[in-house]
Amino acid sequence: MIVVMSKDATKEQIAKVEKELALLGFKTHPIYGEVKTVIGAIGDKSNIKSNTLLTMPGVERIIPIMKPFKLASREFKQTRTCIDLGDVKIGGEQVVVMAGPCAVEDEKSYMEIARCAKEAGASILRGGAYKPRTSPYSFQGLEEDGLKIMAAAREATGLKLVTEVVDTRDVELVASYADILQIGARNMQNFRLLQEVGQSKKPVLLKRGIAATIEEWLMAAEYIMDTGNYNVILCERGIRTYENTTRFTMDISSIPVVKELSHLPIVVDPSHAAGNWKYVPALAKGAVATGADGLIIEMHTNPSSALSDGPQSLRPDNFAVLMKELELVANAVSRTIFKKDQQ
Ligand code: PEP
Ligand code: MN
Repeated sequence: MIVVMSKDATKEQIAKVEKELALLGFKTHPIYGEVKTVIGAIGDKSNIKSNTLLTMPGVERIIPIMKPFKLASREFKQTRTCIDLGDVKIGGEQVVVMAGPCAVEDEKSYMEIARCAKEAGASILRGGAYKPRTSPYSFQGLEEDGLKIMAAAREATGLKLVTEVVDTRDVELVASYADILQIGARNMQNFRLLQEVGQSKKPVLLKRGIAATIEEWLMAAEYIMDTGNYNVILCERGIRTYENTTRFTMDISSIPVVKELSHLPIVVDPSHAAGNWKYVPALAKGAVATGADGLIIEMHTNPSSALSDGPQSLRPDNFAVLMKELELVANAVSRTIFKKDQQ
């Protein structure tokens, strides 16, 4: 439920209400707005009489949250969440593009890809250093050496880094390099991992599970937010359907649905959805037209020799063309593409 404090409630009154909620067994999540403070109270409300709270000084009203996801819900927070990474902001007016290879393979190729990504206007670099694959015999990633390469690319380009963490034991290490921690589709319901990345306080890019409903996906976000880390970016990356001409089916409807249900930003990964570089530009443009706050796109200087996901990776020249086209699509929906140093 949400306890809305009146606009002239004092700090002491707010603190008293928070204390009372804690005594009643609730976990509290206050939002100190410019005009009013609202306190999200998560817990079992069956054993409280709302009168106890309603009569406390400073309390204006109490609103139940009907959805199973609470902190992620639009009911809890009406204004859109904007994740602030310094110069880059995800969930604001501008659309943010993240690009890079599926996996970090070696320093030379990564630096070259990072340079191309920056030149075309991407503002965040992607790359996997931990790559558990469908087959245990496939390339598994460079681990910390890969993170070091990514950090060197950040240093050289000024771009931010998003990279996946797959194990609770690695969260601290990965968080010491990354600007955004990525939770992969296959780990969307790895609840211990969600809690651990929540506790790291780093922004989290939460990919949708390959067979997850939107509600399950938002419940996964709730696990992260329940730790007090509200910096969650949802990422639609395609779901498994009976269709097999593409790797997954990009659920374009999830963009407006998520925007209605939640205040969290949503980005789209057209590369894993398509599984084929040829379809990536169309899906990317569709996502921006539909309201996505960003894109995460696989790009490689030599896709045919890529160690992972080469067939769905754009070459830098195609990526640069797409960036230009995206600008037009963004303009058509009254947005622009954020381009670092090109504002
Ligand atoms: C990736 O981003 O490289 C990846 C493995 O994505 P997903 O978890 O969506 O399959
Ligand atoms: Mn990949």
